[in-house]
Amino acid sequence: RAKAAGRGRWSFFTEDMHRSALRTQHTATELLRACERDEFVVHYQPQVDARSHALTGVEALVRWNHPQRGILMPDQFLDVADGLGVVKEIDRIVFRHVARDMLDWQARGLDMPKVAVNVSSKRLHDPALVHDISASGVDPARFCIEILESIYLDDTNDVVRWTCDQLSEMGTKIAIDDFGTGHASIQGLLSLAPDILKIDRTFIAPILDEMTKATLAHAIVQIGRCLDIEVIAEGVETLEHARRAAELGCDILQGYAFGRPLDAQALLRHVTGTGAADALSPG
Ligand code: C2E
Ligand code: MG
Ligand code: MG
Ligand code: MG
Repeated sequence: RAKAAGRGRWSFFTEDMHRSALRTQHTATELLRACERDEFVVHYQPQVDARSHALTGVEALVRWNHPQRGILMPDQFLDVADGLGVVKEIDRIVFRHVARDMLDWQARGLDMPKVAVNVSSKRLHDPALVHDISASGVDPARFCIEILESIYLDDTNDVVRWTCDQLSEMGTKIAIDDFGTGHASIQGLLSLAPDILKIDRTFIAPILDEMTKATLAHAIVQIGRCLDIEVIAEGVETLEHARRAAELGCDILQGYAFGRPLDAQALLRHVTGTGAADALSPG
C-alpha cells in the first residue's frame, strides 16, 4: 500500500513538473511578445533621509502588465526572462520608461533628485548602458545603478570596469543591492568604488529583537563610513524599524513604512499630496 501511495505521489509530482514546464514555455513565448509590444510598467518606491524622513529619491521596479493575468511581479517573470536572454532588453525598456517619467515629473513640477534603476548582469556588460544614460535628456547624476552583490563581484571584467568608470565620470551613482547576502570582500568592494550599499531587508526585519542582525547592520554602516559610502536600509516596514536603522547609522531608508511602490502618476500625487515635494532638495 505504501508503494502504491508512493507511486501515486510520484506520478502526481511529475505531472506537476510537466505542467510547470509548460507554463514556463508559455510564459517564455508571451515574454517575447511583451518585449516587442512593451507591456511593462515601472513602479517607484520612495527613499527617505534617515533623520528628516524627507524624500531623497525613488527606486524603479519593473512590473509586467500582462493582458490576461494583470500586473505580474519581477519574481514571476525575471527568471524566465533571464533564461530567454531578454533581461537586458527589459532593463533597457525600463530605463526608457524611467527617463520619460523623470521628464514628465519635471514638467509637472516634481524635480526628482534621484532614481535608482536595477540592472542585470547582461545589462551591466552592455556598452549601450552608458550611452542610454548620457543620451536620456536627464542629468546622468540623477541616476543610480543598482547591481546585485553577486554580479558585482563575479563579473568584474574590462567592459564592466569601463562602464563603472564612465558612470562615475558622468556622476551616475553605483549601488550594491541586497548587500550582506552575497560574498563580498572589502577588496572586491573597493575595486569598483561603489557609492552606496543597500543593506538587505533580511538584516533589517529582525533588527529590533536580534542583537546579531543589528550588530551586522552596524558593521556594514562602519564599512560605509570608512570608505565614504552611503548606506541604505531596505525593507523598513515600521517606524520602530526606521528609528533603529537610523540609530545604527543608516543614511537613507526605504520600505513600506515610507510608501509602497507606485506608478508614476500615483507617486507624483503621493509626493506632492503629502507636501514632501517641498522637502526636496536638488542633488
Ligand atoms: P530589490 O532591487 O532588492 O527591490 C526591493 C524589493 O523589495 C522590491 O520587490 C520591493 O517592492 C520590495 N520591498 C520594498 N519595501 C519593502 C518592505 O518594507 N518589505 C518587504 N517585504 N518588501 C519590500 P519587487 O518590486 O518585487 O522586486 C524584486 C526584485 O526584482 C528587486 O529586488 C530586483 O532585484 C528585481 N528587479 C525589479 N525591477 C527590476 C528591473 O527593472 N530590472 C532588473 N534587472 N531587476 C529588477
Ligand atoms: Mg534594487
Ligand atoms: Mg535589494
Ligand atoms: Mg532583492
